[in-house]
Amino acid sequence: MDTAYSPDDLAFRDEVRQFFDEAYTPELQQRLRSPDYKPAIEEWQRKLYEKGWVAPNWPAEYGGTGWSVTQKYIYETERSLAGIPDVVPFGLVMVANVIMAFGNDEQKSYFLPRILKSEDWWCQGYSEPGSGSDLASLKTKAELDGDHYVINGAKIWTTYAQHADWIFCLVRTDNSGKKQEGITFILIDMKSEGIKVNPIVSIDNHHSLNEVEFNNVRVPVKNVVGEVGKGWTVAKALLAHERTGIAGVADVKRSMRLIQEYATKEVNGGQRLIDDPGFQQRIADIEVELMALEFTELRTLAAQAAGGFPGPESSLLKIKGTELQQATQEILMEIAAYYQGVLPIDLDPNELGHEFGSEVRRRYMYGRASTIYGGSNEVQKNIIAKFVLGLE
Ligand SMILES: Cc1cc2nc3c(=O)[nH]c(=O)nc-3n(C[C@H](O)[C@H](O)[C@H](O)COP(=O)(O)OP(=O)(O)OC[C@H]3O[C@@H](n4cnc5c(N)ncnc54)[C@H](O)[C@@H]3O)c2cc1C
Repeated sequence: MDTAYSPDDLAFRDEVRQFFDEAYTPELQQRLRSPDYKPAIEEWQRKLYEKGWVAPNWPAEYGGTGWSVTQKYIYETERSLAGIPDVVPFGLVMVANVIMAFGNDEQKSYFLPRILKSEDWWCQGYSEPGSGSDLASLKTKAELDGDHYVINGAKIWTTYAQHADWIFCLVRTDNSGKKQEGITFILIDMKSEGIKVNPIVSIDNHHSLNEVEFNNVRVPVKNVVGEVGKGWTVAKALLAHERTGIAGVADVKRSMRLIQEYATKEVNGGQRLIDDPGFQQRIADIEVELMALEFTELRTLAAQAAGGFPGPESSLLKIKGTELQQATQEILMEIAAYYQGVLPIDLDPNELGHEFGSEVRRRYMYGRASTIYGGSNEVQKNIIAKFVLGLE
């Protein structure tokens, strides 16, 4: 792709900026940060839907934007520079893509418009107690009973299960072959009888994770996506989309901008953190890696735009992106410590004060998980060794 912006691209960038400026109001931002964040997320995603921008990566025929790679890049960069959170990925990024690729017409026409309008919240039922990295060892059982499957078992670390209307699940419909065979990808209504959601509070003191129990849950056979017993293929395609999204390049760029901004504040006595040569070196190292990652992401986007599906290179994006996320989170923690220890002269006390410190700490703590979720980074290295480098 050509990375120089044309006059049309610049006009598009202005349009994006103006929309974010008007639509992402301070009042909405306040509600997004409150414990009752769900209605605010829905409202924001609906605004994006009404503007036609909620699904930049969907094909236009299903309601996507039809943007060029450059436009997607501009949109993503502006979104993150404005501090706007990405859409909740489970519906719009993950399950929608596999419904488009593997679903039948009935599934497409029922689920895709609802996902686009954020009418349903989705969650991801992959991991089980005992089956995380070794996902194919999963045991949640689905037994055929007429035109329904009866599901028994448990999923764990299920993000937003407490809010979800639907869960996409990997279940075992057959035990006889290799462990990757006999897995089926199925959509389950969270209001079904026999589902129990147990909360798990994470290290940042927030509740987004859950365990989900299935006790004789009856699910119509028509909710299977793709072929029965061939869910492993569907599962892998979905994971590639998930990993590409986790890289979060634009968000790391925003963190770098914040780091530059904050570290150039003077404290009493004229000291600035940015003047420390060790600190400068670390920032420079991240900048270099970030630039390399950004171009890798653009190559992936260009390949997708040309009709490809993200493949094993998504593992590469996931590893580097999450390492850089954690590196910037660590530096922001240091900034919080530095500036809270020595009072800045030209600073509103609240700017780098308690609120900044607690937000930075929360991100740092939850951020430990980014090298684990979506498949741990060690496991991504195995994938790269096998499928990118051809090592066995
Ligand atoms: C915040 C958070 C949100 C999550 N959200 C969801 C969700 O919504 N839905 C969902 O289904 N899951 C979710 N997960 C689960 C996540 O996908 C798993 O935690 C992850 O795949 C790792 O599995 P595990 O926790 O069982 O660890 P294990 O598989 O037990 O791994 C433990 C350690 O061993 C290493 N390891 C394991 N196997 C290998 C190997 N072959 N080679 C080298 N090292 C290896 C791992 O890298 C890790 O360091 C979430 C996890 C977190 C932390």
